[in-house]
Amino acid sequence: DFDHVLEALLNTPVDLDSLDPDSVLEEKWIKKVVTQSGMKFRWAKLSQTRERPNRDTHRRPPADPSSLVPRPPVVTIMGHVDHGKTTLLDSLRRSQIASTEAGGITQHIGAFLVQLPTGERITFLDTPGHAAFSTMRARGANATDIIILVVAADDGVMNQTVESIQHARRAKVPMIVAVNKCDKPKADPQRVKQELLAHDVVCEEFGGDVQAIHISALKGDNLLALAEATVALAEVLELKAELSGSMEGLIIESWTDKGKGPVTTTIVQRGMLKQGCILVAGKSWAKVRFLFDENGQVVTEAGPSSAVQVVGWKDLPSAGEVILEVESERRAREVVDWRTYEEEQQRLQKEQSIIEHKQKLHQEEYMKEKAELTHLSWRQRQLVLYRANKAKFFTRPSERTQRDGPSLSLIIKGDVDGSVEAILNITDSYDAQHQCELDVVHFGIGDISENDVNMAETFAGSIYGFNVGASNKVQKLAAKSGVPLRLHTVIYKLVEQLKDELSSKLPPLL
Ligand code: GDP
Repeated sequence: DFDHVLEALLNTPVDLDSLDPDSVLEEKWIKKVVTQSGMKFRWAKLSQTRERPNRDTHRRPPADPSSLVPRPPVVTIMGHVDHGKTTLLDSLRRSQIASTEAGGITQHIGAFLVQLPTGERITFLDTPGHAAFSTMRARGANATDIIILVVAADDGVMNQTVESIQHARRAKVPMIVAVNKCDKPKADPQRVKQELLAHDVVCEEFGGDVQAIHISALKGDNLLALAEATVALAEVLELKAELSGSMEGLIIESWTDKGKGPVTTTIVQRGMLKQGCILVAGKSWAKVRFLFDENGQVVTEAGPSSAVQVVGWKDLPSAGEVILEVESERRAREVVDWRTYEEEQQRLQKEQSIIEHKQKLHQEEYMKEKAELTHLSWRQRQLVLYRANKAKFFTRPSERTQRDGPSLSLIIKGDVDGSVEAILNITDSYDAQHQCELDVVHFGIGDISENDVNMAETFAGSIYGFNVGASNKVQKLAAKSGVPLRLHTVIYKLVEQLKDELSSKLPPLL
């Protein structure tokens, strides 16, 4: 708790010069004091503003429509549990292996490609369940062009069927209905389509524009018709992308492979993803070492809408993250640095606003604690103020609680501990008389510095120095900012002047 930390710190002899301003412990401690005391605090780090890299770290603006070419649709399969999503994905994938010569060692990479006999292609995302879709949506990314809604003909519209419809609506992704399990004797596809009407999904035979295909995922019936319906919808949607320019994509899955290190499955959205190119995603970057397709084959490049495994990441980026190609490793590091910095800034700003909020709550406690601080010994107070100084936090006059009587803010500098302490003892004893409140805002050893003058100006206070000097520059600054600079070599003369100044603050005696 705060009291114990304070006590422990104050009872430890500290060599002021050896304090490490960046030490985490110290920062934590300052934060604690600040939070508890309600003093104004500005993170030193926050003021270290950095320039944004000269080029944007976001997606490029849309391309000129004339440079676009058609691209295959990216499809997600959704629907109620047990209605046959996995079975449908399996049979679609299997239909593909039979027609290619890859040898059937498919790997799960989160997506696969289906090619129709007529040559059109479809990319299916097979990241299980809705989780991936939701993660992407939460990040504002959308990898999907079309949703295939699987509804079992013997079960009809169920909870998750409705949820899937809502997902599609919110994401503004068009749907195709796959009425599944039509091989079953109890199958009633007509009922399914009727039930869908209640959720504003109007199939073609009811005069709507949603295609419904009767299939059996298990037997592989009518899968070609489903694929053709998908291609037909894709044509209506006029899905296009550019082949040139730097690549942009999305991560649909990411994991760490024992041999390959961090790996992502990436959907290419613009341009060509090539071996050797430099990518950034979130706060990670990659020089692409290898690209693999879902058959585990090495590919040298991948165009829009294709899904490939990317190997070569320095750290593991997350699913849903946008991938951008940059021109060099240096640039990649710059972007990652910038994003890390930006995130840190946001975190600090958030933290600061929390602190500011707490300050208000702790205002009273602060006043109490400050009163207690005045009872600490010279060394202890110096430590507290020293640390406070470093964190650059002070109550400005306007923020202090209302004072009844007149007050005088002081900055005291001396040549040695003893002399400063002597002056502080005098001010303390004077304080007790309560005629004019004395507020020693800063004290220390050494010549008057510019910082002292600035502080005095902030607090509308005076500087008293004993056996110390002030450079020409400091004197000029003091004169310019109207800060009284009172340097003495005889202690009683200093005390005399201090008393005079105090009396001048008091209302005239009648
Ligand atoms: P998911 O939870 O949506 O992924 O559903 P599954 O694909 O795991 O299928 C659930 C059950 O339905 C499994 O036992 C499948 O064999 C069965 N199934 C899926 N499609 C069909 C189909 O077209 N006909 C029949 N008769 N059974 C199916």
